[in-house]
Amino acid sequence: MILFDSHCHIDDPCFEQDMDAVFERARNAGVLAMTIAGVNADMALKAIEIAARYDNVITAVGIHPHDAAHCAPDILDGLICLAKENDCVKAWGETGLDFNRMFSPQKDQEACLKAQLAIAGELDLPLIFHERDSMGRFYEIVKSEGPASRKGVVHCFSGTRKEMFQYLDLGYHIGITGILTIQKRGRLLRELAPLIPEDRILIETDAPYLTPAPQKNKVRRNEPAFVASVPDSPWPGSGTRPRRPGYYISTIPTGFSAQILPDLLHLIFGHQFCRLLFPGRPKTAQTW
Ligand SMILES: [Zn+2]
Repeated sequence: MILFDSHCHIDDPCFEQDMDAVFERARNAGVLAMTIAGVNADMALKAIEIAARYDNVITAVGIHPHDAAHCAPDILDGLICLAKENDCVKAWGETGLDFNRMFSPQKDQEACLKAQLAIAGELDLPLIFHERDSMGRFYEIVKSEGPASRKGVVHCFSGTRKEMFQYLDLGYHIGITGILTIQKRGRLLRELAPLIPEDRILIETDAPYLTPAPQKNKVRRNEPAFVASVPDSPWPGSGTRPRRPGYYISTIPTGFSAQILPDLLHLIFGHQFCRLLFPGRPKTAQTW
């Protein structure tokens, strides 16, 4: 089984002490690669350092909606430089709206999102979105101001059926976390996940947050190794499991090297999205 944790925060201070062990457990669990999602300028630097130290780590840079109050033009300029200068930066984000906790005022969140949509369009980078309880504002803004190319993922999807199809119609991927495995909180998600086309779904841990079942009964901190639990756990409350999604790959031969990573990501992310992750790549990657 080969897995890709499409969204984690392994740059969080809670991983500092045992990062080697965390990577080793991820490898042993079949997690070939991971994306470190950006939240602010400081963390972006740390994520890039980690990508230089470990194989198959890609990063995103961006300002999280919680940090939107500090989203000044010079900070965005700094992130643009990081994206241009570092090969490991393959996406922009996370950016979006979070009206659930409102750590930054709504007007700052909206301005910060709009600025980052424009930047991702200019840099031609896929977007990683964070949306929570924005009551339709996120969709309105992304629809009217998002880049024409529509590459990206709405990570940790927690919205309604209508919202999910709106994002899919725009061309975005849907990111599914271990919430899927949680009895009460994952109920709606378990209904919706099987409706997502196989080439438009991504699994993620969002580590260190959102530890899935069954690990959450034993440890508090989530980590990339646990991404296997997202598709693989028995899902409480649902008699049947959805069809096996496309991200769950068992047919790739063992002994492959990092060179196939572009092919693998191509498979996982779908065509458009991965072509941008690896812009120089020939289109023949579809042979898998
Ligand atoms: Zn995140």
